[in-house]
Amino acid sequence: MRAALLRWYRRVRRDLPWRRRVSPYRTWVSEIMLQQTTVAAVTPKYEAFLRRFPDARALAAAPEDEVLQAWAGLGYYSRARNLHRAAKLVAARGEFPSDFEEVLALPGVGRYTAGAILSIAFGVPRAVVDGNVIRVFSRLFGLRGRPKDPAFVAKVWERAEALVPKDAPGDWNQALMELGATVCSPESPSCGACPVARFCAAFRDGLQDRLPLPDARRAPVPVRWTCLWVERGGKVLLWKRSPGERLLKGLWGLPEAGRVPAAPGRRLGSVTHSITHHALSLTLREGALAPGAPLPPEADWVPRARLRERLVSSLWLKALRLAPGRP
Ligand code: SF4
Repeated sequence: MRAALLRWYRRVRRDLPWRRRVSPYRTWVSEIMLQQTTVAAVTPKYEAFLRRFPDARALAAAPEDEVLQAWAGLGYYSRARNLHRAAKLVAARGEFPSDFEEVLALPGVGRYTAGAILSIAFGVPRAVVDGNVIRVFSRLFGLRGRPKDPAFVAKVWERAEALVPKDAPGDWNQALMELGATVCSPESPSCGACPVARFCAAFRDGLQDRLPLPDARRAPVPVRWTCLWVERGGKVLLWKRSPGERLLKGLWGLPEAGRVPAAPGRRLGSVTHSITHHALSLTLREGALAPGAPLPPEADWVPRARLRERLVSSLWLKALRLAPGRP
């Protein structure tokens, strides 16, 4: 089964930028970006990020705002902050660690990412388990469990660590992920084109559509914001959300009503946006500053032409379409 899957992977693997040239830094950045973001969305961002920050030293030396800006559009900005913090540790150390525990200790690196870096960039036989691998293993071996059940996930990890080959751990892990991403998809897997169909318990028993067992769905939490468009002399009032906010923590945004001394005025429109299990509904209104009222230290006037450098979340790109003159 392993030989069949590896043969298939080496024949069909997608030409992705992080596979063209492999280094611990390049693998690490790609794996962090690929957490929660699709390959199609990551590819152009990855190439631009690597041009801007070609190694850990360059990333460590950059100001945080520049790193967040390069991350714009990828979402889950705590990943960028952790990447930045970890780059400083790697730069101070002098080289990327090759010890599993040391890699695992870097901010933002979990067991999956550490396994990916070790196996792909260092050739160390460590497994990776993500949603793709859980689905593939559940079907291949006929394992009945729910992907969010920790006991089931632990069982898959155990299998995965036992199966990873010593001679090609990186290719093996990527082959599993590739199979999950392109053939053994969540809905209607392409079993007719699957290189390991003859070894697959779910295929044999006709259970491909029933495994893994479905997770109980969690309804997104509804959130409503009213934000203000306050403009003066070609500059727009922005506000930096504190690190303790529930959503978009530590990022610049248009100010929410009540956070700056401005009265909400004419309604400009509203947008909806999904963000980490929240269904956000944002209404944008014109805001008029109270004369002479002091602004909070988190507020800043930013020229219209430079708004996109600060407003990195795609929520704000939607909201800007509602603003007068669409900056
Ligand atoms: S045969 Fe079908 S269910 Fe089994 S691993 Fe291949 S694609 Fe997935």
